[in-house]
Amino acid sequence: MPFDAVVVGGGLLGTATAYHLVSAGARTLLVDRADAGRATDAGAGILSPETNGRDPDAWFRLAVEAVAYYPALIERLRGEQAGDTGYARCGKLVVAVSDDELEPFAQARRLIFERQKQRGLPRADDLHDVTAAEARELFPPLAPVHGAIYSRIAARVDGRLLNRALRTAAEARGLAVRQGSVERLVIEGDAVTGVVVGGETVPAGAVAIAGGAWSEAFGKQLGVTLAVAPQRGQIVHLGLHGTDTSRWPMVNAFRQQYMVAWPDSRVVAGATRETGSGFTPHTTTAGVRDVLAEALRVAPGLADAEVREIRVGLRPLTPDGLPVLGDVPGVAGIFLVTGHGPTGLTLGAYSGKLVAAQMLGKAPETDLSPFGVARFSSPAR
Ligand SMILES: Cc1cc2nc3c(=O)[nH]c(=O)nc-3n(C[C@H](O)[C@H](O)[C@H](O)COP(=O)(O)OP(=O)(O)OC[C@H]3O[C@@H](n4cnc5c(N)ncnc54)[C@H](O)[C@@H]3O)c2cc1C
Repeated sequence: MPFDAVVVGGGLLGTATAYHLVSAGARTLLVDRADAGRATDAGAGILSPETNGRDPDAWFRLAVEAVAYYPALIERLRGEQAGDTGYARCGKLVVAVSDDELEPFAQARRLIFERQKQRGLPRADDLHDVTAAEARELFPPLAPVHGAIYSRIAARVDGRLLNRALRTAAEARGLAVRQGSVERLVIEGDAVTGVVVGGETVPAGAVAIAGGAWSEAFGKQLGVTLAVAPQRGQIVHLGLHGTDTSRWPMVNAFRQQYMVAWPDSRVVAGATRETGSGFTPHTTTAGVRDVLAEALRVAPGLADAEVREIRVGLRPLTPDGLPVLGDVPGVAGIFLVTGHGPTGLTLGAYSGKLVAAQMLGKAPETDLSPFGVARFSSPAR
């Protein structure tokens, strides 16, 4: 059967793209190799650009639109009886625990409140300073802190559940799914006309590459530098028997780690950021030690928690930390939706919507030019 579109990769980015394609009536095939280390299966699920004191404005603008899209999407998936997604507005604390964090905290605080002032959002009662005592009341295992900011609107989502829900809803709308590997693209002249899966050519009007950390493999054929590399993240799930964690906010301090509480007496602590890890999605002694040491530094009250599970994912990282979205100069019919690094659960559902619309020839509802692949190189074709 001829397809209007083929999506390569079944992590959140690929599934979200496929969901929006079939929702618009496009005959779509999703091909997924389901590699070990799929980032979507390990992601912590923090959705909180308003507390981000680090990433550039282009990321921030996209992230604000992306999180604003979530409630409508979740409502729609509920209506489609697609299953739970774990989405909830659970709040988030940003804290400085030790002296070395005072300066980064002050810098982040400046940026967070400056952006709040510029936008007039979030409202002051949704994003504000709290005292050390208030922070501890919100998240009881917390260490004494030097400073804390609280966002009431910060949300979380379960990447695995969201991915499954989108796939369920998309299949109900006619998405075809094939387990396998897209070995290469079929390019005729200067246009993509299909893909090769398991030695078989599948014709398609358009192809989306959502291969996560594995996306770079298509760069050569497309004649572009697709600068996406795996960055390993190890993340530990802790069980707190008998403790009601359902109202605890997420927490982050300033050594690149965080905690996310879930309703089933669980706190997820993570994660390592191992740039240059290669395709090695396994736990390491040093990685697990670092995650646990940081969790206990920020929240010593977790010392008796049970280690329930350790997950490992390969983030699709770009050198500038921005995603890769949109068409490829010089090759018609091919679209990239990858490179979302540490924030793919924040951006992913919305990125899928934007790129699906572009694949269907619609004018983008937001400016994708900061995310174009041409920023890594000029096309060599
Ligand atoms: C530990 C950790 C914590 C994180 N926490 C957060 C967070 O709190 N908030 C946030 O916003 N983001 C977070 N992220 C980031 C987020 O999880 C990722 O950015 C996002 O899941 C990437 O999704 P993806 O679909 O691009 O890639 P993946 O989920 O890795 O999926 C890629 C898929 O493509 C398939 N594939 C690749 N090549 C081919 C091919 N040739 N043919 C067929 N299939 C192919 C793979 O097998 C895989 O199934 C975290 C990530 C990690 C690892």
